[in-house]
Amino acid sequence: MPIYPSTVFITGANRGIGLEFVKQLLGSKNPPNKLIASCRKPAEAKELNELSSVNPAVHVLQFDVTDFDAIPKIVSDTERILDGVGLNLLINNAGIIHRSPLGGVTLDEMRTEADINCIAPVLIAQAFVPLLRKAAEASDVPNMSCDKAAIVNITSKVGSIADNRGGGRYAYRASKAGLNAITKSLSIDLAKENILAVVLHPGWVQTSMGGPDALIDTVTCVQGLLNVMATLDAQKSGTFWDYKGEQIPW
Ligand code: NDP
Repeated sequence: MPIYPSTVFITGANRGIGLEFVKQLLGSKNPPNKLIASCRKPAEAKELNELSSVNPAVHVLQFDVTDFDAIPKIVSDTERILDGVGLNLLINNAGIIHRSPLGGVTLDEMRTEADINCIAPVLIAQAFVPLLRKAAEASDVPNMSCDKAAIVNITSKVGSIADNRGGGRYAYRASKAGLNAITKSLSIDLAKENILAVVLHPGWVQTSMGGPDALIDTVTCVQGLLNVMATLDAQKSGTFWDYKGEQIPW
């Protein structure tokens, strides 16, 4: 396990890639002291609750990322849990997909995907800047890193305009392309504060979103993402990578 952030906040931690992030971070030889795992329905998050029941580092918070009015409370709850220290790593992982063809695209799916995949991550990042800043200021390591202060937004290659050869997926492509654009701005605006921001593509992964025919399992995906995260520094802030460490064009 190549990254050692002391404090982590993640969205959509109850299943799929988010849950695997929690497992692998906890399995590290130097696991986080505080891992705030948020999800929409903690009462139904069986595996996550089991992990938190045996590991005092894990704090489960109820958070629907489209409940924008709840963000200040999520940040203050996180601040209380962190108890005086900053946040090293924010992972905006929660996401949804619609696959309607052009004739089936609806206003509702365009808006819902924009809310979850694009608008929520920027509002969450904005609200967590003070805690990320606190972590960056407390660190004596000069270069940016995921151990120091970082925003990792889980995007998709489908959000790459340069890579679009298949058409379709209007709502998903637009929401992830928007997330990519936002992440670039975060990287520029937060560079002076030593806070890193990147977008990572997890691969085509066997989750309920990726389906059973996907190319890799969540273990391979998250191992790859963590390896890539370990290579991130100031020069790589504001860039777009896949889980194998290949850079993706915007
Ligand atoms: P899953 O469908 O397995 O999990 C999605 C997660 O997002 C769930 O935890 C879900 O919670 C959560 N979520 C959805 N809506 C909300 C919301 N409004 N508030 C809070 N949480 C929410 O998908 P993956 O694990 O595969 O996807 C994780 C990320 O990876 C997403 O951003 C996705 O776009 C991206 N990705 C995945 C790929 C793949 O092949 N799987 C490919 C490229 C990108 P709940 O259980 O409550 O619904």
